[in-house]
Amino acid sequence: MSDVQDVFNSRKKEAHVQREEMNEFYQLCKDGKAFSGMEMQELETLLEDLENDRVEFSNDMVIDMIIADVLKLTKDKKLIDVLENIRVTNIFDDTILGRAYPRYDDGTYYIEIGRSIDRKIRRLSDLFGVLFMFNEKLEPIECVVMYELLNANIKRFKNDDEFNDEFNEVQIKMLYCDKVIMNNLTDKYVSYAREIYEIAIAFMIGHEIGHHYYGHTDKDNILNEDGKIKELKADSYGIGFAFEYLESAYGKGDNRYGIHQFAGLYMPLIASSYLCDDILKDGKQHPSIIKRLLGIQRRLGKLLDEEGYKEVQCYINSLYDTIQFQKKINII
Ligand SMILES: [Zn+2]
Repeated sequence: MSDVQDVFNSRKKEAHVQREEMNEFYQLCKDGKAFSGMEMQELETLLEDLENDRVEFSNDMVIDMIIADVLKLTKDKKLIDVLENIRVTNIFDDTILGRAYPRYDDGTYYIEIGRSIDRKIRRLSDLFGVLFMFNEKLEPIECVVMYELLNANIKRFKNDDEFNDEFNEVQIKMLYCDKVIMNNLTDKYVSYAREIYEIAIAFMIGHEIGHHYYGHTDKDNILNEDGKIKELKADSYGIGFAFEYLESAYGKGDNRYGIHQFAGLYMPLIASSYLCDDILKDGKQHPSIIKRLLGIQRRLGKLLDEEGYKEVQCYINSLYDTIQFQKKINII
């Protein structure tokens, strides 16, 4: 067995993200601390399915789904080669966001994604998803519950706390709304949060795939570009990759994608700003978070029409207000 296959398999075993999170959630439900809205038996079946899951490209089903969807659509031979030979694992390392390794002799492309940032992105996506709920036709009681959910999710995001008491209580209220008002409140919220998260992850792995695509990890990289330029190019590639995923997974029939999904592209950088000291300062290899956020903004300006672009900015600004992002910029 080749080296990378070995590393990948042991990493995969070490952290099966969704299985672990489902397990954690199942335990909380069992202890009466969280409510899934499903029968316990259904949860157990889901857990069993996850136990037996044989994900091909990574130890995370969302990542596998994204890769499989892009593979269905893309005609780019170089990208197909990377995707067919990719290995992505979530690893327990708080210091990295993502890392692309030099291509191995057997043609495998290995990528690691830090688990802390992945979780942080998910909690930020949960928080962001609530903001879109206020566009839905809500009954007054549902509005109140959504404000409570927003506050609970702000705390979950800021304190890195998966299931705080407030969040568990508000989940019960959501289930109550579902039963009494029958407006599918929980389903709508879960869809927003989930779809934002998917795009965020598509951008994040797309960034690392971009490094492989451009040969940034090759030892004999003839262009020998500046590290920071490489990062901006990888960001730009990540956006294109996320768009390919959007088109493949959501671009058909009535099931069109929404503005929340474009806005989801910002999540990895906003989330990672909480793991760095100064968002205005360039790192050794990476441009500052602010420069990278501006890069996303510029690229989106080219990809979306004016109305769509303004709408995305509007939501991102209200997210910044909600999490008081401005405080991270000392000059304000
Ligand atoms: Zn990079």
